[in-house]
Amino acid sequence: MTRLLGIDVGGTYTKWVVVDGDAVAGSGTVPTPPGPEETVRLVASLAEDAGSIGIGLPGHVDRESGTALFVPNPPGDWDGYPVGARLRALAGVPVAVVNDARAFALAELELGAARGLADVLFAVLGTGVGGAVALRGAVLVGPRDNLGEIGHVTVDPWGPACCCGNRGCVETFAAGPGIVRAFGSGTAAQVAEAARAGDGRAARAFERAGWALGVGLGDAAAFFGVGSAVVGGGVSGALDLMRLALDAELARRRPMTGDITVLPAVLGPMAGAIGAALYGRRSG
Ligand SMILES: [Zn+2]
Repeated sequence: MTRLLGIDVGGTYTKWVVVDGDAVAGSGTVPTPPGPEETVRLVASLAEDAGSIGIGLPGHVDRESGTALFVPNPPGDWDGYPVGARLRALAGVPVAVVNDARAFALAELELGAARGLADVLFAVLGTGVGGAVALRGAVLVGPRDNLGEIGHVTVDPWGPACCCGNRGCVETFAAGPGIVRAFGSGTAAQVAEAARAGDGRAARAFERAGWALGVGLGDAAAFFGVGSAVVGGGVSGALDLMRLALDAELARRRPMTGDITVLPAVLGPMAGAIGAALYGRRSG
């Protein structure tokens, strides 16, 4: 069985996994290098005996050419950088360049919480909110690998400014920074701890996150006619604190959408890297 290298480039940390069959044979986390060229060199150095490489980027990409199109968060200037071509030249194996949320979705669909389901929405709660849609067992892509951005559904047109240029997107309430802003200080994990200890302001920050996520998933369910959703990412450890508000928002739409089952992701923090590895195998 060929070993597959999967990479998940984040704004601060880059994760890698080696997938062998259906199992993870190795993994690690390193600080994201200062730019795309350094990142590609790092990935090539990890490739060794890999038969293919998949690399997930937090933004939009041209899958055909493997070029980064809109990747604002990691250090350096990624936009226009030929990630796939450079990596193929250095490592000499097939390379797939994909969006990180689509990679997360493929991993959870093939090996995780959505295994056996055909039609599923995905949301990844972290520094931002990524999203994806699977129909008939396939993760949808879009022309710039940009389909499924549930994080940028508007829930409050007068809400906080979002990195996308809009105001009041799901992401401004349900991602880590939005939860911290609503509480006033700390990290999302600390706000969750405060909420569990009975702090009302912290609890309301997660209620608001659940409401925003419910609007995003509910609107997406109405749009795509899908009855299941998988929620993952670092902030999803506090999904239980969002549940009441999330379920209330989904229940409001039940006459039209029917029941929408929201499942926690099961593959953990390496899901994006695992999904990237699976995309790499497909490119071979
Ligand atoms: Zn936005």
